[in-house]
Order: sequence, then structure tokens, then C-alpha cells
Amino acid sequence: MKRIAIIGAGQAGLYLGISLVDAGYAVTLFSDRTPEAILNGKIMAMPLLFPDALQLERDLGLNFWDEQFLGCDQFHNNLCDPQGNVALVVSSTLEKPWRGVDQRLKLSVWMQEFVRRGGELVVQAMTLQNLEEYAQNYDLVVVSAGRGSFSTLFERDEQKSQYDQPKRHLAGGIYTGLKGDPMKGRTFQVSNIPGAGEMLQFPFYTNSKDSAYTVAFEAYPGGAMDRFGKVQSGQELVELSKQVIQELTPWNYETVKDMELIDEQAWVRGAITPTVRKPIGRLPSGATVMGIGDTVILHDPVGAQGANNATKMAHLVAQRIVEHGNQRFDESWMQEVFDEFWQYCQHGHALTDCLLTPPAHLQEIAIAMAQNPEVARDYLNGINNPPNLSPWFFDPEESKKYLAKKTLLNSIEPEDRPVAPIAG
Ligand SMILES: Cc1cc2nc3c(=O)[nH]c(=O)nc-3n(C[C@H](O)[C@H](O)[C@H](O)COP(=O)(O)OP(=O)(O)OC[C@H]3O[C@@H](n4cnc5c(N)ncnc54)[C@H](O)[C@@H]3O)c2cc1C
Repeated sequence: MKRIAIIGAGQAGLYLGISLVDAGYAVTLFSDRTPEAILNGKIMAMPLLFPDALQLERDLGLNFWDEQFLGCDQFHNNLCDPQGNVALVVSSTLEKPWRGVDQRLKLSVWMQEFVRRGGELVVQAMTLQNLEEYAQNYDLVVVSAGRGSFSTLFERDEQKSQYDQPKRHLAGGIYTGLKGDPMKGRTFQVSNIPGAGEMLQFPFYTNSKDSAYTVAFEAYPGGAMDRFGKVQSGQELVELSKQVIQELTPWNYETVKDMELIDEQAWVRGAITPTVRKPIGRLPSGATVMGIGDTVILHDPVGAQGANNATKMAHLVAQRIVEHGNQRFDESWMQEVFDEFWQYCQHGHALTDCLLTPPAHLQEIAIAMAQNPEVARDYLNGINNPPNLSPWFFDPEESKKYLAKKTLLNSIEPEDRPVAPIAG
């Protein structure tokens, strides 16, 4: 039986570990924290998953919260002028729900599930030295330690990494007590304010009995929203979040004015430099390990791609491990699997890039989305599966052609339309 070591019990590591245990592998998962420490600790993110990643979780029987929590069924995008007035609204019903579950709850439950299904969980903060040891004792060592840890082990891929500093400063928390129209339905709401940033609000599942929401900010460095850099406590974040909303989008203040964090640890702030790394880590002895998830492909969360990707990458790696049978997991195998994933993931990367640094043609697309539900639907399906956005979303000329076809399509009565889709 092949022995696989996985470093880091996050979205990628646990998904991979549970897949491989189910497939009959001997898997050891190293976590720097116990399930209890994760459950009672500070949040690291508030990820929302889209239908394809949710389906992968469901396929593994890891969708423990589907019945209690229906997730978002509406998308509502306020495109504001620089003063914060809503200039354009893109509103659409989601074909399948989007869901976000507090990672502290999810990962701690998944860790227990991994052990219940036969995996070995070792609580140990791994070092490079430990990796040397385990690279000798296991057939494959996969590093899924998220952002930060082991970044020196995986060389930055200069060709795939455009940025050397963050494009947004992030802050957010998980709250109860939101009220008013935007929160009546199960709405994912994002408001874009030119030069200031994006504000996000969406229902989120937590251990708390009250219904909870994420309220998050993606602030342009130095812009009017960029006020969270010195926040030291949850209470400070709450007060400042309310102030920023009151000043920048007063029409949204009523909704948040009584909100409270679900607990003192339910907040986060920071900044991410989007970075792609080479997937093979070479240890001083010459042994190699493979990186997955944020360890090697790190996005700014503005396009909500990170945890979705981590799941999809873990799924692909699990499939390729099984198919590889008894052969050695050498460098060329690791590179091939990464390259195969990059074929998919480059589009999510391009999407994030477009949202971080919006090109001029995005404005035309936004106007079309507000007017034509089919364009909005194509965009939302593209967030779920970013290759669907290529090339029309990324390339100005292709975008023109796509929008021209959609306008044409819109002028034809539904019953007279050609059976095959005109665009996409
Ligand atoms: C504010 C914010 C909002 C986000 N929103 C979204 C969103 O809406 N949608 C989305 O898809 N993504 C989102 N993301 C990104 C998403 O959270 C990450 O991409 C995803 O969690 C990555 O999964 P991972 O398994 O690679 O890493 P992680 O989930 O970070 O897991 C890594 C694990 O490894 C452990 N670890 C670290 N070092 C060691 C060590 N030395 N030894 C042992 N264990 C170690 C860590 O404790 C952690 O448990 C968001 C991120 C942030 C910061």
C-alpha cells in the first residue's frame, strides 16, 4: 500500500487526505493545530464555494451542513460612482446555491471525519527538517500548508506571477444582527466603489444559532476604504466597518448598524500578494515534495477562487495519484499534474486579475450584465468554472464579439432562437 504524507489540514489537505483514505491509501496528515484549537481559534478566511467545488465535497460525503444551510440564491452587484451612489445594478438568481461554512467548524469536523475513515492525524507544526525525514519514509509528501509556511521551498514562478505586492488590503468578519432589505433573501451582495474597493455581504454558516453573514472589505491600498491596517481587536474592526460603510455607502448603513461579531475571534485582516509558485519543492538532500492549494497558487480573494481551486486541485491530484498505481511519484509526474491543473486554473487566475485591475472593456460587460440576464448568467457560471469566461471576458476584441452576439440574441424572441447557443 502506498504511503502518502500531507502537510496542513486545510481545504486542500483534508480534501486530498479523505479522498485518498477512501481510495485505500495509508495517509498521514500533519496539522499544526488540533481540531479543538481550530474550532476555538481565530478565522483565517471566510471562503464561499461555488457549485462545482460544492459538488466535489458532496461526492465525498463532506457536505454536513447542506440541510441546515441553504446558502446564497441571489447575486446582487451594486456598481457605484466614486461618491458611493449606486449607478448600476446587476441582479441575478443563481442557478445553484453558493455556500460558505465557517472554516473553523468545517475543518475541525473534517479532521475528525478523516480519522473516522481510517486516516492518521498527527498534530505537529512541520519544519523543513521534518520534511526531509518524511520524504524518506513516504512514497509522496504533499505540502498543503496554505500561504506563508514553506514559501521559500517553492520557488516563485516569475512568468505566472504579475504582482510583487498586494493589490488590496483585506478586512472582514462573521456577524449576526444584519437587517433590512438586502438581507431578506439569501443574497450575495457586492458593491464596487471606484478607487476605494469592494464591499461584500453574504449569508454564512457558523456554529452560532443566529443566522450569520460575512461582511468583508477589499480596499485599494491608500484609497478611502483602506482604514483597517491598524485594527487590533474584533471590536475595533466592528466599529470601523460600520464607520466605513456609513461614510462610503450610507444607503447600506441601516443593514449593518446593529451587527456584532459572532465571537471575538471571527475577524481577519491582512493582504495577499497573488503568487504562483513552482509545484516541486527540493529539499537540501535532493528529495522532492509537491505543493498544492494556496502553497503554490495564491489568489487575492476578490474573485473567491482560492478555496474553490484548492478543492479542485486536491480532487485532480487524488485522481492522478490513484491512476499512477505503483509507479514512482517523481518530478515529472508532479510537474505534469500541476501543468494539467494550470490549464484549468489559469482562467481563475485571469479572472482574479481582471477584478483586481479592471480593464476598460469590463465596463461594457458590466452594463450588458445589468441589461441582459443571459450575460449576467454567463458571468456567474464563469465564476464557478472560469474556463467558460475565456476568451470573451478577458480579451477586449472577443468581448465585443460576444456582446454583439448577445445583443442580437436578445432582439430575437426566445422561440425563434437557434437551438445551438450563439455565444459562449
Ligand atoms: C479574507 C479571505 C477571504 C476568502 N474568501 C474566499 C472565498 O470567498 N472563496 C474562496 O474560494 N476562497 C477564499 N479565500 C481563500 C481560501 O481561504 C484559501 O484559498 C483556501 O483556504 C486555501 O486552502 P489551503 O488548503 O491551500 O490552505 P489553508 O486552508 O490555509 O490550510 C492550510 C493549513 O495548513 C496548516 N499549516 C500551516 N503551516 C503548517 C505547518 N508548518 N505544519 C502543519 N500544518 C501547517 C494551517 O494551520 C492550515 O490549517 C479567502 C481568503 C481570505 C484571506
